[in-house]
Amino acid sequence: MKEAVVVGQSAESPHERTEPPHCRSKASQIGLEPVEAEPPGPARLTLSVRADSRPNSPSAQPGLSPRSRAFCRRHFPGVAEAEWNDWRWQIRHRVTDLERLGRVINLSEDERLAIASSKRALPFSVTPYYLSLLDPDDPGQALRRTVIPVTAEAVASPGEAEDPLGEEDDSPCHGLVHRYPDRALLLATGFCSTYCRYCTRSRLVGQTARGHLDRASLEQGIAYLEDHQEVRDVVISGGDPLTLPDQELDWLIGRLRRIKHLEILRLGTKAPVVLPQRITSSLTRVLRKYHPLWLSIHFTHPDELTPEVHEACSRLADAGLPLGSQTVLLAGVNDDVATMKSLVHGLLRLRVRPYYLYQCDPILGSAHFRTPVEKGLEIIQGLRGHTSGYAVPHFVIDAPGGGGKIPLQPDYVVGREGGELVLRNYQGRTYRYPDHLAATRH
Ligand code: SF4
Repeated sequence: MKEAVVVGQSAESPHERTEPPHCRSKASQIGLEPVEAEPPGPARLTLSVRADSRPNSPSAQPGLSPRSRAFCRRHFPGVAEAEWNDWRWQIRHRVTDLERLGRVINLSEDERLAIASSKRALPFSVTPYYLSLLDPDDPGQALRRTVIPVTAEAVASPGEAEDPLGEEDDSPCHGLVHRYPDRALLLATGFCSTYCRYCTRSRLVGQTARGHLDRASLEQGIAYLEDHQEVRDVVISGGDPLTLPDQELDWLIGRLRRIKHLEILRLGTKAPVVLPQRITSSLTRVLRKYHPLWLSIHFTHPDELTPEVHEACSRLADAGLPLGSQTVLLAGVNDDVATMKSLVHGLLRLRVRPYYLYQCDPILGSAHFRTPVEKGLEIIQGLRGHTSGYAVPHFVIDAPGGGGKIPLQPDYVVGREGGELVLRNYQGRTYRYPDHLAATRH
């Protein structure tokens, strides 16, 4: 195993360091170099430097958590808190290659092979912040498994497909999916700061050629929405739309908000989880202009509920955005009742309503992440009645081939006896409801 040490530092674990107010070494000692100056996406083509690209002032952002501070000091010596807390710094310094990653965590042979392989369709990228949450010594750690490639990704299994949900078939123009009668999905960017290894859109995200969405693509999508008055609800997703700069989001959401028949706008994002520094006061000032605007946040595991994420969700909730979570059920990551209960309880404390629990989509190379469907039902059964109703998400399968989301739940109806419906409660006890009206209708 490789030592966890990076640049001329001692061998102590990043979790054991004391926390200085700043990292003090010279910038020339920084072991992890910036990857690129700007995130790809429409904004890169159309906008220049923005006010919110400056490091945030201390009053605009919380201080570093002890964990982040220790990690920063060890792996990014010379970097000030203000830089670490700047989302653009986080994106510029995201780790995207084997050499840099190997300086931070002890990679298994399988992880090394997977990252070095050219067969991998989905790029590898993780923000320094999210990297700080990974266990440097345990390849089986839940969060590490969700973002570090393994060779199983290159193995296609029966039933898997590049586009299992058939989104391309319901796409009237590049970057727009119109499947349900009154709702549409607008893909605002193909870029994410951190790539989830089980991403449903791994065919698109991070792919320069296929995933790129420029202003012209967005204009086409907006024109389609203007023409389709039956659409009343638009989800802006990607990629991660919150990797776009404030001005670009302001332009896009403002354009959509001017379409009279669009009653509700929603943003789908993982930024509050992998890049909580993105939730600045200037961003929330933009977002709060466009209510009703809802936010679906992609959470995976209770270990993601850090002080930074708490602060990010507080800012969003205080700006009046209703927050919901979307979680993919992943084998060995969150597929047990205790983990899921811890996650949903933590989310409610953050004012995030657990919304969907997804059966993992059968994208190519996802077999190592997928669970039997019964596992999801078991989790819902372990939550329903055992905790607040608000904490219980809808367990759904997004039907392969474009059937849309199909809800599943444990069967609480035992049967019918005469005019009575026989029900089973969360403790397994049976009860009878006098459903005589139904009986007379038959
Ligand atoms: S954040 Fe969303 S779009 Fe980006 S890789 Fe993860 S699942 Fe895919």
